Amino acid sequence: MSHSTQSMNTSGETDPVWVHLMPYSKYPQFPTLNRHVETDICVVGAGIAGISIAYELVDRGKRVTMIEAGNVLSGVTSRTGSHLSNYLEEGYVGIEENSHTWALRRIKEISRSLHIDCEFRMLPGYGISQYSRDDPNHEKEVAGLRKETEMAKTIRVPVSFREGLIIKGWDGSSDQRGGAIFANQATFHPTKKQPNFQCFTQTRMVSAEERVLVQVRTANGYTITAADVVKATCVPQQKLGVFAVMESMRTYCIAIRVRRGSIEDCLICNGAQDYKYVRLTECDEKNDYLVVGGYDHRVGQMNTSGRFEELEAWVRERFTHAGSVDYHWSGQVFGPVDFIGFIGRSQGKTHTYNVTGDGGNGLTHGVLAGCLIADEIQGKINPCASLYNTNRLSSVAKSMPWMWQHDAHVSAHYKRQVQSDMEGIEDVAAGSGEVMKEVPTDPIVVYKDDGGKAHRFSALCPHAKAVLSWNDTKKGWDRPVHDSPARSNLKPMDEYAKGERTQIV
Ligand SMILES: Cc1cc2nc3c(=O)[nH]c(=O)nc-3n(C[C@H](O)[C@H](O)[C@H](O)COP(=O)(O)OP(=O)(O)OC[C@H]3O[C@@H](n4cnc5c(N)ncnc54)[C@H](O)[C@@H]3O)c2cc1C
Repeated sequence: MSHSTQSMNTSGETDPVWVHLMPYSKYPQFPTLNRHVETDICVVGAGIAGISIAYELVDRGKRVTMIEAGNVLSGVTSRTGSHLSNYLEEGYVGIEENSHTWALRRIKEISRSLHIDCEFRMLPGYGISQYSRDDPNHEKEVAGLRKETEMAKTIRVPVSFREGLIIKGWDGSSDQRGGAIFANQATFHPTKKQPNFQCFTQTRMVSAEERVLVQVRTANGYTITAADVVKATCVPQQKLGVFAVMESMRTYCIAIRVRRGSIEDCLICNGAQDYKYVRLTECDEKNDYLVVGGYDHRVGQMNTSGRFEELEAWVRERFTHAGSVDYHWSGQVFGPVDFIGFIGRSQGKTHTYNVTGDGGNGLTHGVLAGCLIADEIQGKINPCASLYNTNRLSSVAKSMPWMWQHDAHVSAHYKRQVQSDMEGIEDVAAGSGEVMKEVPTDPIVVYKDDGGKAHRFSALCPHAKAVLSWNDTKKGWDRPVHDSPARSNLKPMDEYAKGERTQIV
């Protein structure tokens, strides 16, 4: 498949496991916009958030037009790990947990009522220690899990701690018994849920202006006139201020074959710094895939190579009968410093709405956005709305220690404007890239193609003016301050061809 076809189907170099039973050829096809359109609401982005928002609005009798820069579900949703959890990464915040529980149930409800065969099932989620019982840190971490369990119970989360918990199929030498059991978690196949309303693909929004009505302009020169626009683009399309309170993390997944029934159907998660999570999805009549993900790092920081190998080694140490690794993929998630996503009316706007900052719980966050945005457009008060308000300051302010760390990270990328990764072009290996600073010009990136020919581009991303970083896993550039998943898989030369980079020579 050519790079540009691949980039229309998924925002990454490699295919995720979800194509195994749902190849791109089975996705419904939608036309590219070729006329001006009038509608009630224009939804930009056909990921889980955009589709959920459009679904809820159509369900409430609104005319919806959706536009998508690639093909449907080609963004981060195509590359998810697919746990559906109300167990939030930084622990529970009562009302927040309730809202994700609502979203989880909504997925169940919609898949049942529309008869979508998407492998949806409720499962227990196991929170375990990262250490073996013979490691002195094991007891300390298990004590933390016990404490977390007690705290979650106080806000009536159905959770218990089981001493000596053993997960069926875990037969490796790493003995990690004991864990928190969260009831009513779930999983599903993320790309079997497809849009069923007016949709135009390969249609990129370039601007949205509020006049009497909202005018959404597309890259191919057409205008969608609507009462409201919802930007469900994952990457914020608005003020730089939103980037300032968001972290961009790259996360990795593999799918490894296991005999059906040999491993308990459950969600597993450990709380390590480079944490791991596990779930199953169908492979064929005899086998399932164990989807193992994690090993996140801030974009543009840390070595990106060896991450898939590390995930594989982790599985094999615990599930010794695991077979071949058939898929490996990675993607980017965005998390605000207060760990709560942004859903709602955009700062300073009246008819423009935004969904972003969903972190590692982006699937339930996207489904939740469907309800919150539909309510806000209809003028209904939703008790969760203020928690996700895009203008909130109080919880962001409470996260000051994180904020400082985050600012230091962002500043580091601006500091790179005066630093070189290499001494000279001869240092760049074929098939990779590096940043070079040649005083007095702005930094440039040098990409050497497989034939060894060097190509020089501007190193500054056009939006945030931060310096790009080479990612050896995806063989392309990361935009560390705000990555654009929709474009992040463009090969260095495709970027040039699409006008995304300025070629220097
Ligand atoms: C490896 C990995 C594992 C993950 N695991 C989990 C998990 O287990 N559970 C969980 O809940 N979450 C998980 N997440 C996060 C979750 O998948 C995402 O947060 C979620 O899918 C984001 O959905 P979205 O609809 O907001 O964004 P997307 O799916 O990215 O959709 C946004 C769409 O907008 C389009 N777009 C962007 N700009 C424009 C424009 N200008 N014009 C038109 N269209 C545009 C893009 O092409 C894209 O298709 C994971 C993420 C990754 C990368």
